[in-house]
Amino acid sequence: MTDRVEAYIDANQNRFVEELMQFMRIPSVSAQEKHDGDTRACAQWIADHLKGLGFEAGLIDIGGKPIVRAVRKGNSAKRVLIYGHYDVQPEDPLDQWKTPPFEPTIRDGILYGRGSTDDKGQVFTHVKAVEALLKTEGELPCGVVFLLEGEEESGGDALARYVSQAKDELKPDAVVISDSTMYDANTPAITYGLRGIIALEFTVRGPAMDVHSGAYGGGIANPVLVLAQMLAKCVSPKGKVLIPHFYDEVVPLQPWERQSFRKLKFDDAALAKELNVPRLHGESGYRTLERLWARPTFEINGIFGGYQGQRSKTIIPACTARAATERWSGSGPGRPSRSTASSAATRASDPRRSSPPSPRPRSRAAWWRTRTRPAPATWYSIISAPSAPTRSASKPTSSGPARRCCSTWTAR
Ligand SMILES: [Zn+2]
Repeated sequence: MTDRVEAYIDANQNRFVEELMQFMRIPSVSAQEKHDGDTRACAQWIADHLKGLGFEAGLIDIGGKPIVRAVRKGNSAKRVLIYGHYDVQPEDPLDQWKTPPFEPTIRDGILYGRGSTDDKGQVFTHVKAVEALLKTEGELPCGVVFLLEGEEESGGDALARYVSQAKDELKPDAVVISDSTMYDANTPAITYGLRGIIALEFTVRGPAMDVHSGAYGGGIANPVLVLAQMLAKCVSPKGKVLIPHFYDEVVPLQPWERQSFRKLKFDDAALAKELNVPRLHGESGYRTLERLWARPTFEINGIFGGYQGQRSKTIIPACTARAATERWSGSGPGRPSRSTASSAATRASDPRRSSPPSPRPRSRAAWWRTRTRPAPATWYSIISAPSAPTRSASKPTSSGPARRCCSTWTAR
């Protein structure tokens, strides 16, 4: 069977690439309303493509961007669900592209264009694998369901709502997530775990209005400084997260996993050079791949407050010191608990603050990991945010919704 499938792939490779390029030409940027029509057109394009392969395929509209659902029976009653997303991130900054983002171009054997590696390319790999099986064997060895969402890049919840509604009907025996990577061009990988995320937003309130730092500095706490001090307390200089219970539910790395990661001979110096940093940094006691793939981190995705204009303005800002989207990945195998979120606030609090910090959960997604058995139908879980601790002073911000985590945990 393998020979026939491989011969089919070889014989059709150019067409496969041409079709992938058609898929990539549709600017399905889910974060921007101006692309709503394109996003739907893209969903329809891939649904039609799957229909052409004999799938019962269509779009599911339950608010948000449409979900592509395509189902086909196979020779056995077992069923594999293949997850992916057809939406892409905005293309800016445009001047960084050597060729236009939505005009896929092959240079030196590599296909460049928005979505090529996240996630249209991976989705298409599975679509074409299914095609190769169907055209050579006539039937699939098991049932296959494609579930492709259009909000992965913009933090929508349509898929989560759909999965919780339809989990009895979907009932897969295994889930394959197409939204992952190979280690490098020659090293295939199986991704068997993902880090979850909790996104929080803290606001520290200062004086009732901006006041002159020459007149009031030294007399009241500066909220930007307080926020910086609070955040600095969350992580030790050695990269250890100091929030109580942060590591409580983290699945420890097994010796075989550490050994398997080590075999990949990851080059720290090469990454430092690529990123133009003097050295890599992270939790002590762990190698880089372990930190990147298997250890939770506390990241600050943005911090702003005070005067942002040209030159300087001598103020102590009023109430706009804010760390936007606290990112907090991989807090245990289940759900990062509400008490964990609160303890972050406690830890971050500072007795000198002028009002309590107000962590406002923006969104969170569970850590998902399965080691010995296929993922259950409830594999995908976006937990609704708990209510913020009282005395909240935070306001909704205009920054975009937090994204779900795409970090992968990969091993050979
Ligand atoms: Zn993705």
